Amino acid sequence: ATETILALNNIEVIYDHVILVLKGVSLAVPKGGIVALLGANGAGKTTTLKAISNLLHAERGEVTKGSIVFNGDEVQALSPNELVRRGCIQVMEGRHCFGHLTIEENLLTGAFTRRDGSAAIKRDMDMVYGYFRRLSERKNSLAGYTSGGEQQMCAIGRALMSRPKMILLDEPSMGLAPQIVEEIFEIVKDLNAKEGVSFLLAEQNTNMALKYATYGYILENGRVVMDGDARSLSENEDVKEFYLGIS
Ligand code: ATP
Repeated sequence: ATETILALNNIEVIYDHVILVLKGVSLAVPKGGIVALLGANGAGKTTTLKAISNLLHAERGEVTKGSIVFNGDEVQALSPNELVRRGCIQVMEGRHCFGHLTIEENLLTGAFTRRDGSAAIKRDMDMVYGYFRRLSERKNSLAGYTSGGEQQMCAIGRALMSRPKMILLDEPSMGLAPQIVEEIFEIVKDLNAKEGVSFLLAEQNTNMALKYATYGYILENGRVVMDGDARSLSENEDVKEFYLGIS
């Protein structure tokens, strides 16, 4: 049987004490899997990822029911930093890089939770440059002056500097040309295959996400309304009608 690296059991999230946004979401990511979390704008994808990372407080949100298990441990009481130390990191929507730092400096900020030496960090920096050739070419450029695609790569590269077992990737395709999106997804696939990183991938771009994911969940209005392996979802008539072709 495949092991599960991340499991959400019946998660409920409320914003501002009254706004019920996730109404009992359950999902599982197998170790070494790429799982897509799909759904329209506002369905609850970002909220789900932030519930896992424990990042809802800043937005006056809280998990009011359910459990979240990462790598065998209940993680809901952990700080985002502690979760990163244990190997689960979120790459936020909108590619948050430090615009006034170079690409290389941005990558280094991703190593802040580590306690091993600079030699190991240098090795991982080379690993990141090996996957993201464009970042290696632009390592001395200020991130704010690089393209949207390069900034998305920088955000993923920075996350990799924490040596994650799992990355929660929020809408990497947003605002990017299809060719760049494909380039990024190919690298995600490589990282998954060669470094063993598991991914939970929140995407509105259903087409692209199902091409790379092994399994998918569709969220509507804070509930999982359908799930299945990527192939069966992309062949499903309802999915085709409502989700394919809209992005
Ligand atoms: P997006 O494509 O915008 O990221 P999403 O599927 O990730 O969409 P969420 O951002 O999780 O959706 O939002 C889910 C619902 O929660 C939306 O109805 C949104 O308006 C609401 N919501 C999000 N953040 C807050 C907040 N801080 N306070 C109140 N409601 C919020």
